[in-house]
Amino acid sequence: MTDVVVVGGGVAGLVAARDLAKGGAHVVLVEASGVLGGMVRRHTVAGLDLDMAADSFATRNDAVGRLAIELGLGNEITTPDPRGAWLMTRDGRTFPIPATGLLGIPGSPMAADVLAVVGQKAAFRAQMDSLLPSLVGSKATSLGELVRKRMGERVLDDLVVPIVAGVHSTHPDHLDPDRVAPGLRAALLRDGSLARAVLALRARATAGSAVQGIRGGIVRLVDELVADMDTYGVEVRLHTRATAIEEHAVELVSADGPTERLPADHVLASTPDPARTTPATRTGIELVTLVVDQPELDAAPRGTGMLVHPDAAEVAAKAITHATVKWPWLAEAAAGRHVLRLSYATDATDGADVATSLPVDPADATGTRATRDATALLGVPVAPSAVVGAARVRWHGPDTTAAGLAEGVVAIGEASTGRGLAGIVASSRTAAEHILDS
Ligand SMILES: Cc1cc2nc3c(=O)[nH]c(=O)nc-3n(C[C@H](O)[C@H](O)[C@H](O)COP(=O)(O)OP(=O)(O)OC[C@H]3O[C@@H](n4cnc5c(N)ncnc54)[C@H](O)[C@@H]3O)c2cc1C
Repeated sequence: MTDVVVVGGGVAGLVAARDLAKGGAHVVLVEASGVLGGMVRRHTVAGLDLDMAADSFATRNDAVGRLAIELGLGNEITTPDPRGAWLMTRDGRTFPIPATGLLGIPGSPMAADVLAVVGQKAAFRAQMDSLLPSLVGSKATSLGELVRKRMGERVLDDLVVPIVAGVHSTHPDHLDPDRVAPGLRAALLRDGSLARAVLALRARATAGSAVQGIRGGIVRLVDELVADMDTYGVEVRLHTRATAIEEHAVELVSADGPTERLPADHVLASTPDPARTTPATRTGIELVTLVVDQPELDAAPRGTGMLVHPDAAEVAAKAITHATVKWPWLAEAAAGRHVLRLSYATDATDGADVATSLPVDPADATGTRATRDATALLGVPVAPSAVVGAARVRWHGPDTTAAGLAEGVVAIGEASTGRGLAGIVASSRTAAEHILDS
């Protein structure tokens, strides 16, 4: 009898499997694809090793930082360039993102950097937040409703919508505030205003940057987790798909074998149970990476990049990261070239369990769109002839199916915790700890 079966070899599954095996459990980890890491993977573009999706982790808790230290990567933790990112509003205006906000919600509505974006009238409306009874908006079912009620439509549309679109690939009206900003509602009730709640949550986060990275890429966490799983004896089964997930057993189909039923004392799943869920319609995200040789970009014209209002007419991209500005270690590796990463909303993913990275010809439709958008967003010409390497990867948008798991199965990962490594790592570790304590 296996002690624990972990379904899914993304970060959620890897963290849980490693902790459980380290604690002495016999663990089998099953992964449908042929690779571990899920959305945290690496690809090589123009000879540079780059993160294929996630490139940073939130510091609103210390879960990822602590894990990195345990994995021997403590000295490799790095903070992004302080120049910060910009945003583009619905009508195409561009501004540095105001300094003291949370998901675009201003902590100081009358600050000059907020006034510059929303104008005086909307800033006054947002400032009314401090006069409203704390109950106003406190029962909001979405982040959008909460901000609209406390600070007005303009702050929501100019500031929160572009930032939330970039971070969570959706509109604030579709996000549960307790999931994306844990503690915000309680702080509003306690401190009496949304702005003060934002400042309180920011103060509680690790001093300094809201996100951090790992020199060499976030994917190094996966390298070390996989090495540790090997050390602690986790049995990893690749190309093995769970077709039904129960409290004490998992049904498995592997590429080269018959259906198998694997009994276990505990089952942890980072994916919904395929037998219980109809696949939800998930949006797609296409990332196009350009490595360019264009000295005009040395001046970092838009800081670390730009988040774009989803309805901005001028460009198709939803965001651009100027990765060689954001991460000094990458600038060093790129030796004068620039890495730009554009993201697009798409209807389709390629349907595979894990995404593949495909080369892009700078002169084809995808390449042309990317160079045109990069030019519009950065305000500096990015010529197709300056592109020395390009790739595109299609990912699923966030999974909003509420787990769809049988009672007794322990839900971990994005489907239950929401998008982002900080929450996922914390909850996987808590789940493993509970099992080891039981
Ligand atoms: C473009 C992009 C950028 C991102 N940037 C950031 C960022 O900067 N910071 C951040 O914190 N987060 C970021 N995220 C989110 C973060 O990467 C994810 O939330 C996190 O990696 C999800 O981990 P997971 O283990 O829950 O899921 P996944 O990584 O999706 O892993 C699930 C695994 O389960 C496997 N699987 C699926 N079904 C089955 C089955 N039936 N049987 C067996 N195996 C199965 C899959 O093949 C996959 O390997 C980003 C995501 C994307 C797409």
